[in-house]
Amino acid sequence: DSNLILYVNFVLVNMVSKQRYIVKDLLGQGTFGQVAKCWVSENNSYVAVKIIKNDPAYYRQASVEISLLHVLNRKFDPDDEHHIVRILDYFVCQRHLCITFEILGPNLFELIKMNNYKGLSLNIVQMFSRQILNALMVMKDAGIIHCDLKPENILISTSVKPPEIKIIDFGSACMEGQTIYSYIQSRYYRSPEVLLGYPYTTAIDMWSFGCIVAELFLGLPLFPADSEFDLLKRMIETLGGQPPDDQLRDAKNTSKFFKHVGSIYRLEDDKACKGVTSAYRVLTVEEFEARELKRPEMGKHYFNCAKLEEIIANYPYRKNSHEEIKKENLTRLALVDFLRGLVEFDPGKRWSPLQASHHPFLTGEPFTCPYEPQPETPRIPVIHTVSVDHNPGGGHWL
Ligand code: ATP
Ligand code: MG
Ligand code: MG
Repeated sequence: DSNLILYVNFVLVNMVSKQRYIVKDLLGQGTFGQVAKCWVSENNSYVAVKIIKNDPAYYRQASVEISLLHVLNRKFDPDDEHHIVRILDYFVCQRHLCITFEILGPNLFELIKMNNYKGLSLNIVQMFSRQILNALMVMKDAGIIHCDLKPENILISTSVKPPEIKIIDFGSACMEGQTIYSYIQSRYYRSPEVLLGYPYTTAIDMWSFGCIVAELFLGLPLFPADSEFDLLKRMIETLGGQPPDDQLRDAKNTSKFFKHVGSIYRLEDDKACKGVTSAYRVLTVEEFEARELKRPEMGKHYFNCAKLEEIIANYPYRKNSHEEIKKENLTRLALVDFLRGLVEFDPGKRWSPLQASHHPFLTGEPFTCPYEPQPETPRIPVIHTVSVDHNPGGGHWL
């Protein structure tokens, strides 16, 4: 294929700076290419090098990753305080675009797996949530949407204590207001507006963030859907309610999943949506099958999904003393309230990173009543001139 053939002690060279990177190990592999652990002898240190396939589409995508990370690193996080991976260098070597990053440790999915999918303690969930939110705050200020926030793209830095996480993989990211792609986000973490084909903003990352926080606690994804229809059914069942009517009216894919029933539809017989009034109702499985001319791949867990409140409250306790359980119960109530503001169907009502950051679940203030965030003053949109050197490192490419 169009991957560079790598082996131990293979040398990648930036032809302009003459900097040499000696391949020592493979850290990851994907559709984009490979990520190698490389030794830099001048600095006595390792770096991670993302070696992009020799292919124009991946080259372009990686160029966006470079330019957006430059903006984030240099302009919005010059002192490396906001949990976003540092980009160190980029160059073309043997017709492959190479991006070097600071080296990080395992990702959050690997951490959950190492813990036998039992979920992390609430203290750890709170700590990681604060850090991810801090990164999302900076990204919102920069007007950058990550578009692929998930546990695999959040890495643990092993060089510091207490542990720190960093957001990686801006290979799908875009600028707010320049949203070109409609098929984005990994399915479990996909927001309702992307699913429905509705204009999206940085709020889609807040939805993914909510799914991640729940998963860190549960050890399993909140919406482990095996199709888009399954995803929608799970959202509706777990959260109650459905996307707001104005969104359903304007979204491109509404008719894939919903039936327009004209007058206001009362979902009274539908226990998941009790109290909701809408001009739309979600298709039944049979209607969806008939329309799609194929069986939806309904998840095997589908019939097990419950209301968010029940999922969190019924999760087994890792504590045993009466006092500890009482305290944890209160924190779990705060967690549910926190998640409710994030996995909110209406992107206009979903909390911003700043609003979420003042929630008692994160501040540690006693949780006494549902959190009401301060309204946010709209910011003037940022416009950066995002440009990349199309002939980096002096190499000649295609
Ligand atoms: P695809 O989208 O095709 O899956 P990708 O865009 O996800 O590829 P990355 O997420 O950037 O590629 O990197 C792939 C994997 O390589 C990561 O999940 C991680 O395991 C490893 N990796 C990436 N960057 C680093 C780093 N700085 N330090 C350590 N490991 C890294
Ligand atoms: Mg990735
Ligand atoms: Mg990616």
